[in-house]
Amino acid sequence: MIRVEDLHLHFGGIRAVDGASVNIAKGSITGLIGPNGAGKSTLFNVIAGLYRPTSGKVWLDGEDVTGLSPHALFHKGLLRTFQIAHEFASLTVRENLMMVPAEQPGEVLWDAWFKPGRVRAREAEVRARADEVIDFLEIPHVADELAGNLSGGQKKLLELGRTMMVDAKIVFLDEVGAGVNRTLLNTIGDAILRLNRERGYTFCMVEHDMDFIGRLCDPVIVMAEGKVLTVGHPAEVMKNEAVIEAYLGR
Ligand code: ADP
Ligand code: MG
Repeated sequence: MIRVEDLHLHFGGIRAVDGASVNIAKGSITGLIGPNGAGKSTLFNVIAGLYRPTSGKVWLDGEDVTGLSPHALFHKGLLRTFQIAHEFASLTVRENLMMVPAEQPGEVLWDAWFKPGRVRAREAEVRARADEVIDFLEIPHVADELAGNLSGGQKKLLELGRTMMVDAKIVFLDEVGAGVNRTLLNTIGDAILRLNRERGYTFCMVEHDMDFIGRLCDPVIVMAEGKVLTVGHPAEVMKNEAVIEAYLGR
């Protein structure tokens, strides 16, 4: 689904991504691990269109999407989760979900002025979808709670839920499990597995918790110093000498 070819992104003298080539298979939950500063987030940000690469290519379903905007990539089904923005803290969980389709500029505003009937029909449709997402994630008890009042883990579930409001093909998760307690981490993991198996989502996720990676991901890509060290089953890569050395530092 995603092919990254010899990607470089240099910030001045820093080679954040230094010739990385990566494949993400359709239907997989691909992990991305590596020590701090390895270039994982930068690689994600280039794939998701937040940064233009210094050189190299990104392909989505065989189409060259290098340098496209996050907005254009969103329309092609490539999503990246973000922390719930500050200004959305005072909206409820359901309202946060309902905002997602409307965040895409163009059609929506136009319709509001010229086709009020259609907007009402659309609002009902968006609300129904939000309620379906709330059921899927098993969070009906917080549907009308303000997002700002959610626990850290519940916010992560909401971030995941936001990707379900549009037809995502591939979702990039950057440390969705960071700072989340074990119980909620399992809930998030279950939601990811169900989205993968029941909805056909492809995931690529950066995560530090190796139990979490081992339970969800195959394969896992290991990065260090802007390059791909190795790719394989989580249990195998953790035995790899070069991987152990990268984690211990030198
Ligand atoms: P990881 O997510 O694997 O911890 P990052 O992709 O965040 O690593 O960072 C890779 C390297 O690029 C680090 O040395 C980091 O300091 C540097 N870096 C990341 N973003 C920027 C930026 N916007 N400007 C300058 N250097 C950056
Ligand atoms: Mg990072």
